Amino acid sequence: MENKIYTLPELPYAYDALAPLISEEQLRLHHQKHHQAYVTNSNNLLAKLAKSRAENTEADIKAISKEFSFNLSGHILHMMFWHSLRPAGGKTAPDEELANAINLEFGSFARFKKEFTQAAAGCEGSGWAALALDTLDNRLFILQIEKHNVNLVPQLKLLLVLDVWEHAYYLDYKNDRAKFIEAAFSLIDWTNIESRFARKAA
Ligand code: FE
Repeated sequence: MENKIYTLPELPYAYDALAPLISEEQLRLHHQKHHQAYVTNSNNLLAKLAKSRAENTEADIKAISKEFSFNLSGHILHMMFWHSLRPAGGKTAPDEELANAINLEFGSFARFKKEFTQAAAGCEGSGWAALALDTLDNRLFILQIEKHNVNLVPQLKLLLVLDVWEHAYYLDYKNDRAKFIEAAFSLIDWTNIESRFARKAA
């Protein structure tokens, strides 16, 4: 049986489509170098496992599992991140069902934005802010994910993710993460986030 490998997907828009808030150079580097690295590393780990299984030699499962969790989560979160954004000019808040769920949980969209921004700004080092749904109780949660995989909660379905690793913004914003968060928030593709929310159990 031939093992499938992970591949870097195309962006859903052109590299210059988010400029000037996210420059072509920044987006290209983020996608082609950083996201690619997680794909490559995941495939290297799969190859290492396959080799050791084929030769029936010992594999350091603990170390491989840890690295795999980091790299594959990095790959999956980036795929979700690209589809969480859209070129400037779309709607700036969700409608209907998701809007109601946000109001029910947070009290208002402004309060949600404030908490989401706090999660993103307060991430120590490298990480993500996420809006997630507990499909058991239909509740929304804000997560602060460290690295790519620490503080992820099994069962919670991610609806919206914001990459606040420095590699996401350093060319455009230097160390001004807050400015990047504000810019990225204005590029959220609420139509896509609504679709993820509507497919609640998917
Ligand atoms: Fe990233």
